[in-house]
Amino acid sequence: MRVLGSGGPIVDDERASSGYVVLLDGEPQLLVDAGGGVALRMAQAGVAPEQLRAVLISHTHVDHSADLIALLKSASFSSRREPMTLVGPSGTGPFPAIGPFLEAQLGDAGAWRYLGGYLREEGQPFRLVVEEVDVSGEARAHSIGPLRVSSVGVPHGPVPALGFVVEGGGSSIAFGGDQRLDDPRFAELARGADLFVAHHAIPEESGGVAASLHATPSQIGAFARDAEVGSVVLSHHMARSLERLDESLAIIGERYDGEVTVGADLGCYPAR
Ligand SMILES: [Zn+2]
Repeated sequence: MRVLGSGGPIVDDERASSGYVVLLDGEPQLLVDAGGGVALRMAQAGVAPEQLRAVLISHTHVDHSADLIALLKSASFSSRREPMTLVGPSGTGPFPAIGPFLEAQLGDAGAWRYLGGYLREEGQPFRLVVEEVDVSGEARAHSIGPLRVSSVGVPHGPVPALGFVVEGGGSSIAFGGDQRLDDPRFAELARGADLFVAHHAIPEESGGVAASLHATPSQIGAFARDAEVGSVVLSHHMARSLERLDESLAIIGERYDGEVTVGADLGCYPAR
């Protein structure tokens, strides 16, 4: 797994927003999230968007989805014609489901309707096959080439959001996305994963809205211990959490014995 963006939504962390590419035997397979800056980082990683079998969008917050259309536009310059799978959450309130989210951009009344061919049956230049996952339902399985992807709703305040587990080549990676880590459905899915990508968005002493959206370091440590994951990569750093990084690492280390790495843009983190 290679991190493309290890930052959050505020442009003060000198990191791209959320994005991860999963590779198998060195070949790019899928992208998890497409926040701002991910398109540039993808080029720096030597990955072309048209190489991807699928894009998984954990939720439609801007820092997880803003570069999606830029990546699709880039791929339109390639010879790719095979459909691309796009997995995303169901919707509620001000957060449209992944299908209407795309319609609002690429549909007939969308801002970028000149790229509407992606949503048409015949696909121009290729078709996006949208798989919407009900965040209140059971975990779903997706077959993505040689990979098996599982998705399930995760608690991110009022925002419909998904966590993913990607399995292939004998190893597995759990992507928690933005969430509090207190829903047993994701814990069950992530159990025993070789690598757990945890979002370090808040320091331990957080309250209010931030704590209703994100896991604290103690919650990350307890989750990693209880789910018996092989190792942890911290990502989705923000200035407020980086300022307290040493404290966060100590708190996680008090609860979890495994290796904890501070993820960085373009860093490679093998699952094994
Ligand atoms: Zn979010």
